[in-house]
Amino acid sequence: MSYNDKLKAERVLRERTEANETPYTHGRKAILPLLGQAPSRDTIKKIRLTAKSVEGVEDVHEIIVHDYGSMYLISLHAEIPERLGPAEMHEIAERSERKLREIFGGEVVCHTDPLMERTPEIQAIEDRFNSALKTFPQIVGYHDFRVIAESPERIIIVADIDVTEDVAESEFIDIAKDLEARVEKEIQNLAYCSFYITPKYAY
Ligand SMILES: [Zn+2]
Repeated sequence: MSYNDKLKAERVLRERTEANETPYTHGRKAILPLLGQAPSRDTIKKIRLTAKSVEGVEDVHEIIVHDYGSMYLISLHAEIPERLGPAEMHEIAERSERKLREIFGGEVVCHTDPLMERTPEIQAIEDRFNSALKTFPQIVGYHDFRVIAESPERIIIVADIDVTEDVAESEFIDIAKDLEARVEKEIQNLAYCSFYITPKYAY
């Protein structure tokens, strides 16, 4: 398991244990509407198109527009093929930030998400993952899908999941757990899987 994947798995665990109301989650609920006011669809579309116009950016997700009143801070995740290597991926992310800053002003933070190469084996696993998703009407998409092979017989799957806007944050953990159980049934040689529900106000 790579360092990043380990971090992701730890993050998922941490968020699960924080599911019960704590000062942290309470504070977070109070802050989110301020930092993450729903921006217009046009703004999101323009941000997405601008970022994708940079060569090497295949797609973007988790666009968040933080409105500080006097300025905007845009954060987003750019999906960049991992075969380009870390230096080039970093350069591409910086190019996206510059381009977005030119158009929208304010500050832009572009997070790099490595896109796995789609080998036939990976594609077959993703197809089975997709058929598991079909039983969840509230799931509208996913990103950061990664297959980590502990050994050919034992694989680990992680992904970030997008749900419809009407799903309450209090339901996120149960949805992730139900999906994990469903994927475990669908994919036989699975060591474990771990899913993270994308926060509200992220597009
Ligand atoms: Zn991401």
